[in-house]
Amino acid sequence: MREKILRILEDYDTQDLHIGTIGSHSALNILRGAKDEGFKTICICREREKAVYENFGVADEFLIVNDYTDLLDDKLQEELREKSTILIPHGSFNAYIGKFDDLLLPIFGNRELMVWETDREKQREWLERAGVRMPRRYDRPEDIEGLTIVKYPGAKGGKGYFIVSDASEFYEVSESMVKSGLISREDVKNAELQQYILGTNIYFSFFYSPVYGRIELIAIDRRYESTADALGKVPAKEQLKADINPTYTVIGNFPVVLRESLLVQAFEAANSIVEVSKEIAYPGMVGAFCIESIFDENATMYVFEISARIVAGTNVGIPSSPYSYILFGENIYMGRRIAREVRVAVEKGMLEELIY
Ligand code: AMP
Ligand code: AMP
Repeated sequence: MREKILRILEDYDTQDLHIGTIGSHSALNILRGAKDEGFKTICICREREKAVYENFGVADEFLIVNDYTDLLDDKLQEELREKSTILIPHGSFNAYIGKFDDLLLPIFGNRELMVWETDREKQREWLERAGVRMPRRYDRPEDIEGLTIVKYPGAKGGKGYFIVSDASEFYEVSESMVKSGLISREDVKNAELQQYILGTNIYFSFFYSPVYGRIELIAIDRRYESTADALGKVPAKEQLKADINPTYTVIGNFPVVLRESLLVQAFEAANSIVEVSKEIAYPGMVGAFCIESIFDENATMYVFEISARIVAGTNVGIPSSPYSYILFGENIYMGRRIAREVRVAVEKGMLEELIY
């Protein structure tokens, strides 16, 4: 695959590159960043969403599709190749396309690592090898000790997660979910049971730069989740009566500035995650990645997830976050940081080191 992509890249006009992405998730961020760095931009979207990107003026060209999976269409890919397009993947690529094998286009980042991030077992292996602290995992419901979050294999964006405190509660809730058709009996066996960390969710958006050989902290955010963030508005006795369970559908994000002495835990985690990424998917991390964590009452960091691409939480860092400003002394946000890396790599003849 890499050979094929490199051959495609050889035919590209590096003086007339286009930056393209799917119109959703963090496309405003990516496309605006590309324009700030002097690239032409292409937005691949459905007719319905076009109005948004047109309104913001971030796309020089549109490719209209009926469905995001049309990106796997040969003709569409040929059009993107003809325009020397580098694709910037984001969460919608994982959510709506899911596989990168049929994407014969240069993608910024390491597509193998993006596959690691979508597989819970692989993610855990990666994080365990990196030696970062994670929530405990219980192999059997009978092993549950204390508050536990149950994640079903198909649960998307935290919808359908629920919290229990012992095995009988687990079976009780699962049984009612099976009965109402939300999950299958097979799912019950494959549920991931994770220690629930009571604490503060903190999402670190880092960037690994192959051009400068360094890790950069670009922004920090937290999520605004429905209905988890709404529960505090309902008195406890009403919660009990209504039998409310938190769901974690992301609706938005807030910027966060971390207590400074806690940054060291984040940088240590980032370093070891990047080191291990080189062993599991050579050459390892390229560009944006996010460490998703919870800090408990002792200010101890637990990593519960990793993303090997831009996350939408970086949208809070436009035009700059305190961290990117301190590092660069100018307005840098993730979309722009990605485009900057591409621009400098072209100047230094290193473009192929960003495309895997
Ligand atoms: P969308 O294109 O908005 O449906 O998002 C694609 C995927 O990214 C979905 O799985 C969403 O759950 C996730 N996502 C979208 N926006 C955010 C956000 N602001 N924070 C975290 N995840 C998000
Ligand atoms: P995820 O789908 O893994 O990104 O998780 C969605 C949301 O569930 C997160 O944003 C957290 O609010 C919550 N969550 C996930 N895992 C845990 C955990 N082990 N402890 C506490 N909250 C969690």
